[in-house]
Amino acid sequence: MSKQKFLDMAGKRFGRLTVLSHQGSDKNWNAIWLCLCDCGEEIVMLGSNLRSGNTRSCGCLHREVMTKHGGKGTRIFRIWHGMKQRCENPRNAAYRYYGGKGVVISKEWIGDFPAFRDWAFSNGYADDLTIDRLDSNKGYCPENCEWVTQSENNRRMNEQRGRIKRKEKVNYVYAL
Ligand SMILES: [Zn+2]
Repeated sequence: MSKQKFLDMAGKRFGRLTVLSHQGSDKNWNAIWLCLCDCGEEIVMLGSNLRSGNTRSCGCLHREVMTKHGGKGTRIFRIWHGMKQRCENPRNAAYRYYGGKGVVISKEWIGDFPAFRDWAFSNGYADDLTIDRLDSNKGYCPENCEWVTQSENNRRMNEQRGRIKRKEKVNYVYAL
């Protein structure tokens, strides 16, 4: 008989999610719940994530918000998203060369895709260009970024790599 105590959350609602049933625990004994989203998707979630308000849908809410912001699915959105991943997500393969080295994204861009998109379109963005920082010691901000071809971007990276003389082989993950 299980002596494990947990808050019975069956039937409770969190945003769009209705908790259906207890599904056991993860390795840290956090209760896992099967939830039904208003859109019809079923997902399993940690109870703590539900109670904290971090998770309020199966993911459809996030997708809708992004669609409203406009441009999700476009190349420029992927560039913006990739930039955020490199700088903010420690699990991203390129994070250690960006966020891990203190490369940050300016306030006007970080939570505001339309602002980034508007800057891009009024500063020479084209579908065959990639975003590059003029000064690699500085972050992503309007004053320090421009659109260059991938080969120009590679050339600059190689130049910089030569200067730094890294011992380890660097596999850069490009902006797209
Ligand atoms: Zn959903």
